[in-house]
Amino acid sequence: MATYTDADARKLVMRDMRLLAPGMQERATAFVARCEAAGAPILVWETQRTHDLARIYYALKRSNARDGWRTWHFYGLAVDVIHPTRQWVPWESPDQAAVDWRGRVVEIARSCGLDWGGDWISFKDWPHFQFDTLKPSPSDRSIELYVNHGIAALWKEVGALEGAPAASSFAPPPNVIADGVADTRRMMNALGVRKFR
Ligand SMILES: [Zn+2]
Repeated sequence: MATYTDADARKLVMRDMRLLAPGMQERATAFVARCEAAGAPILVWETQRTHDLARIYYALKRSNARDGWRTWHFYGLAVDVIHPTRQWVPWESPDQAAVDWRGRVVEIARSCGLDWGGDWISFKDWPHFQFDTLKPSPSDRSIELYVNHGIAALWKEVGALEGAPAASSFAPPPNVIADGVADTRRMMNALGVRKFR
């Protein structure tokens, strides 16, 4: 297996809010605005995530999702946020400014309808926030829904289909979806979950 570095990962990070589900665009936009107003500013480091980047994070042991299918980022239902200047440091630093910042950020996230990865028991993912109707990780059912009925069907089921857009238009990235369907067929067939045409 190829050896990956943080630099490889950074090249692939996408942070356009318009790549998120409409409902997630609305919640993430409110999250950013309320944190700013509360004096606990955040920077949205990452929104939607490709399979390639998910695999690199897995190889770097940054995530326990071995590919995009097992992270809500792939489906446009999660964001990773950092401090605008101190970046990742305040997520784990014991200094009082960091403690205050993350306390406010997490409280505001909950008020915006977002669950926090820092609440997970098995894998603490401090910068991670996702739509609060979701299971911690996508299930086989989510993958199936996406492949057979499309991303909008999944968004509808989880209640994220409607929402004020972060900008004037929204278009799911077609290359990501095309790659994803081919990957799903391979993976689901290998797992024996269901045979795809
Ligand atoms: Zn995340």
